[in-house]
Amino acid sequence: MAVFMLLAIFLAATNLSAAGYCDADNEETYSYHGSRNGPRQWPRLFPACNGNKQSPIDIETSSVKRDKHLKKLIFFGYDKSVKRADIVNDGHTVMITPRDNVRRGVTFQGRDYYLLQLHFHWGSEKNPGAEHTLNRRRFEMEAHFVHRSSDSRTAVVGVLVQMANKNNQAFKPIVEVLPDVLYKDKSRRLRSSLNLNQLLPESPGSYYGYTGSLTTPMCAEGVAWFVLQSKQTIGQNQLNSFLKVYSVEKEDRSSDCLLAHNNRPIQNLNGRVIYASP
Ligand SMILES: [Zn+2]
Repeated sequence: MAVFMLLAIFLAATNLSAAGYCDADNEETYSYHGSRNGPRQWPRLFPACNGNKQSPIDIETSSVKRDKHLKKLIFFGYDKSVKRADIVNDGHTVMITPRDNVRRGVTFQGRDYYLLQLHFHWGSEKNPGAEHTLNRRRFEMEAHFVHRSSDSRTAVVGVLVQMANKNNQAFKPIVEVLPDVLYKDKSRRLRSSLNLNQLLPESPGSYYGYTGSLTTPMCAEGVAWFVLQSKQTIGQNQLNSFLKVYSVEKEDRSSDCLLAHNNRPIQNLNGRVIYASP
């Protein structure tokens, strides 16, 4: 009997450590690894996260509505490299904000959406961390280019990123400053200019489009989502640099307090239609 008791205690203990809760994360308004404020608690803590048009979702390519009349996305200003930009670890992601006053954005159905910032969601080599899945397949990483129109509508361009053996030069200006923003609230200016066109995959005008939400609290709905049909790649070494980033300040660091993975679980489609552009 005592052996069974010990076994039960051992199993309970290993289970707890496998859950990987980060105590310091509970001090945040929300987190990915806190026991009290992780994604399963968001709907309780932030009512909008309980909505029926939430993101991310699984994109089942056999069920998407293909529409050959649907206009492709038109990117503007993405060809002007970003010579001045800040990168910050906000405890939930690393975010890059251009500071060069160049108008960049995307035009969809006659409306211009201006680029505010870009940021990333990632997991690990063994547990990929993109937010949207494609036929239930999850890629290693997802880049979000967040845009807003002059009438305050939000459009996010999502780029699925697959791990490759070879480094991707487009990520170099970001990866080289990650060691400077390892901990929460650290920020830096990028050292090299960033080519946003290079960060986009081939044929960036083609997308899977649907109406969803921000994937972080407050989970505001009414977001126009464009998950690009082509994928981007990132080198294994470059991805490893993201895996070293923490969600907490230096004094709170532990292996349970790494930022990875910072992807919200898949949400129900609830009858929404996903459109595929040509
Ligand atoms: Zn995001």
